[in-house]
Amino acid sequence: MKLSKMHLKTLREVPNEAEIPSHILMMRTGMIRRLASGVYGFMPLGWRSIRKVENIIREEMDATGAQEILMSAVQPAELWQDSGRWFAYGPELWRVKDRHGRDFCLGPTAEEIFTDIVRTDVTSHRQLPMNLYQIQTKYRDEARPRFGLMRSREFIMKDSYSFDKDEAGLDVSYQEMYDAYTKIFNRCGLTFRPVEADTGAIGGSNSHEFTAFSEVGESEIAFCEKCDMAATVERAECVDAPASDAEMLPLEEVHTPGTKTIEEVAGFLGMTEDQTIKALLFVTYDDEQKENGYVAAFIRGDRELNMIKLVNALDIPEHSIEFADEEKIGAVTGCVGGFTGPIGLHDCTIVVDSELVGLKNLVAGANKEDHHIKNVNYGRDYKGDIVVDIKNLKEGDPCPVCGAPVKHTRGIEVGQVFKLGTKYSESMGATYKDENQKDQLIVMGCYGIGVTRTVAAVIEQHHDENGIIWPMSVAPYHVIITLMKPEDEVQAEVAERIYSELGKAGVEVLLDDRKERPGVKFKDADLLGIPVRITVGRGAADGMIEYKLRREADKEELTIEAGIAKAIEIVNNEK
Ligand code: ATP
Ligand code: MG
Repeated sequence: MKLSKMHLKTLREVPNEAEIPSHILMMRTGMIRRLASGVYGFMPLGWRSIRKVENIIREEMDATGAQEILMSAVQPAELWQDSGRWFAYGPELWRVKDRHGRDFCLGPTAEEIFTDIVRTDVTSHRQLPMNLYQIQTKYRDEARPRFGLMRSREFIMKDSYSFDKDEAGLDVSYQEMYDAYTKIFNRCGLTFRPVEADTGAIGGSNSHEFTAFSEVGESEIAFCEKCDMAATVERAECVDAPASDAEMLPLEEVHTPGTKTIEEVAGFLGMTEDQTIKALLFVTYDDEQKENGYVAAFIRGDRELNMIKLVNALDIPEHSIEFADEEKIGAVTGCVGGFTGPIGLHDCTIVVDSELVGLKNLVAGANKEDHHIKNVNYGRDYKGDIVVDIKNLKEGDPCPVCGAPVKHTRGIEVGQVFKLGTKYSESMGATYKDENQKDQLIVMGCYGIGVTRTVAAVIEQHHDENGIIWPMSVAPYHVIITLMKPEDEVQAEVAERIYSELGKAGVEVLLDDRKERPGVKFKDADLLGIPVRITVGRGAADGMIEYKLRREADKEELTIEAGIAKAIEIVNNEK
């Protein structure tokens, strides 16, 4: 492609909303074009890189025997009602009505569609196992679309679904996808790690997130340097503090005026925060968004509540719970804002963090203005309706596997694999007949890759202050020929020759033949991040060019032939 002919609009100034390097660079290089909040179109360079990622995914998926299909992005509500997710998916589900008032959604994922395919098409055990996938535009009406392609409302996702006869089959399918994902993200040039993850709105039992390391990532990962434990903080198990064998002391109400926070009450009583109980109050909603109950969660004073663990314990969707208005909930449950404790609460679900069961003589709110109670003990003084781990694993806490202090890091979730088991085949009735003609539920897995997010993640990991530094495998073009003086006949002719020879060798080449100053061309070449730059300048008359890799500072003077050969070699090795 000749730059003089290409639709390329680089920007010097980008809108303020672009905060992170990938977003800024995709706007500056004109790869993407914003249509609405979280809705983007892809311009020539952007689309080429997206297709490169898609093709890597295709090759690796096909190599596992998975079959590509394409379902519509428009999905009938009935299927979502069948699976029970029409409500459970919440406000992210982009609902639309047709002219007859029938409900549809723009698919955020496609478990229902694929389960529907197998429930009608698969009858015999001979048809299993099977893996179907698609690369399709997905829609999620995200609460906070941001960071360009990183969290958009319309994005491209590869989603695949495996169908097996039993759990053992699923284990094999899952491992195949896990291995394919490892190959895919390696080929995309990402530094990443698969980590244990929560199963969220998708459901199921076992899951891994593939996380590309990055400071701007929205996934917080807890990992251990001593063993190989790695999990999202949402998911990471927490080790309870050891139970205390201290004697239970008698309850004692104390006057603690104005001490509404854990820090204040601990300071006031001369205790540490881990000797207190923290209360968090919530209201829950039903399918019609009507209030249907209150929840009081209790954790040790120095801990942080893990919202995902709490909603999992309550078995409700994340969007159907909110912090409660203390005055309103107080009138029903007897709690008092800032002085809430577990003793004497009523008409609410009490969720107690597992660790509190073994701890002795803690301080809790007295459900009475300006008062706390000392020596509160689980069992003797209060009980939980649910007792389970609902706290965050913090940096420095003991690793749940080996006990060493854990570390935290941030990353971008580029893919996720789930063992769904029979969740969808049960709710939607997808069965097959086994060898004995008996009906059995199909055992499923699902596997997603954010294609557009992956492109953004690659840029996050591969850029410098001058622009993108594409890995060869996903670069929109492999080589850029920077022609210094297009009006110089010798230079123009040499550039054309290199352009055509590289093209013949299967190298994707950009020829910068624009009538621009060399400085502008060099700047643009760096900004666009094309891996190899061949500069055709004054040396052309003597048969010489300059060869430079975007990722390295050094330049090399080479003969035209040597330059061409070198470019072909590196492209073939790395593409
Ligand atoms: P997140 O936790 O970031 O919201 P998710 O866990 O809800 O993502 P999945 O349902 O696992 O997402 O979707 C599969 C993949 O699709 C994700 O791993 C991610 O790469 C991509 N993805 C999900 N939401 C978005 C989005 N809003 N914009 C771009 N890519 C997304
Ligand atoms: Mg996910």
